[in-house]
Amino acid sequence: MTPDMTQAGTRPHQPTMIEFLNLKEVNQTHLPQLREAIERVLQSGRYLLGAETEAFEAEFAQYCGVPHCIGVGNGLDALHLILRAMDIGPGDEVIVPGHTFVATWLAVSQVGAAPVPVEPDPHTCNIDPDRIEAAITPRTRALMPVHLYGQTADMSRIRAIADRHQLKVIEDAAQAHGATHHGRRAGNLGDAAAFSFYPGKNLGALGDGGAITTSDTALADKLRKLRNYGSAIRYQHDMQGVNSRLDEIQAAMLRVKLPHLDRDNAHRAEIAAQYLHDLNDTPLVLPQVAAGNVPVWHLFVVRHPERAALQAQLQERGIGTLIHYPTAVHRQLAYQHTALARPPAPLSEAMAAQVLSLPMGPTLSLVQARQVTAALKEILQTL
Ligand SMILES: *Cc1c(COP(=O)(O)O)cnc(C)c1O
Repeated sequence: MTPDMTQAGTRPHQPTMIEFLNLKEVNQTHLPQLREAIERVLQSGRYLLGAETEAFEAEFAQYCGVPHCIGVGNGLDALHLILRAMDIGPGDEVIVPGHTFVATWLAVSQVGAAPVPVEPDPHTCNIDPDRIEAAITPRTRALMPVHLYGQTADMSRIRAIADRHQLKVIEDAAQAHGATHHGRRAGNLGDAAAFSFYPGKNLGALGDGGAITTSDTALADKLRKLRNYGSAIRYQHDMQGVNSRLDEIQAAMLRVKLPHLDRDNAHRAEIAAQYLHDLNDTPLVLPQVAAGNVPVWHLFVVRHPERAALQAQLQERGIGTLIHYPTAVHRQLAYQHTALARPPAPLSEAMAAQVLSLPMGPTLSLVQARQVTAALKEILQTL
């Protein structure tokens, strides 16, 4: 049904003028190089575990400041394989954020361990280090902080807690390619880190892709086997591994885009600075950056109790937004059969109820970002 445009006070429903993220535009900026890279792989005759994957692994390891990078099929597999490589499984507990994408919890559940959620810090939206120690039990094996929305978790405090209790630290860095904490990059802030190259991530492939970074050589060797049927030498299987490899085409795409990541992240930071400036005097709760952090603004997330109205009215004005994430993980049907569904998590639930992600990306212009804030301010006057 088309809206009645003659009715007084009704705004015609416009097509989206400012998209949340236009991936076609993002990839079109690299079109000739991407075409050339696909052609190179096509001509090589090698489509898995070849020169492109090896080169990308070396380039991304160097970018993160670690000696090892292992390309895998996606970010969830990266998290899952790290846990497997650390022999974390049934009977073990892993501390995760209550407010995150479901994949963080799924990786823990997949190895048969129990995710133990900790509430977010309401300022940064990241796991609250003040609440971690109360969640540690004799079964706890690892802390798995997420660098949510592109800002690293409080890794200095998390490392100190982990050391005090002899726990591993696994970074979920799927949203934080290039983010730094006291000058060190995500991927170099724990015992191992998982990255996703899902197309919408700051470094995105043209399909699924993921990687693990680590400074632990023994762990890296084990992960290289785990991702490839437990094998380093063909038809010799040292462990019951999986098939989860970054493919040559995706590695070649990522090699085209990695050299532009810092510039893209700098552009995101400019947009974020303008958003923060423009929205400073509004009732929106704005993202806060902790001391020592340089975020990469994977998402720019504001909070407001009337989130649904805000989103609908922005959409009416042709501005696309998304919600990351609309349901707290412990409220998902997937976890209703577990003990995790029970404990109250008011902060994680409030996040899920109020967060709204504004348009953000390497091809969003500052002029468009200003249109977003102008529209938001108008709408906020009426709420
Ligand atoms: C995207 C994402 C993942 C999963 O990555 P996939 O490549 O989609 O499997 C895991 N954790 C977080 C926080 C993410 O944003």
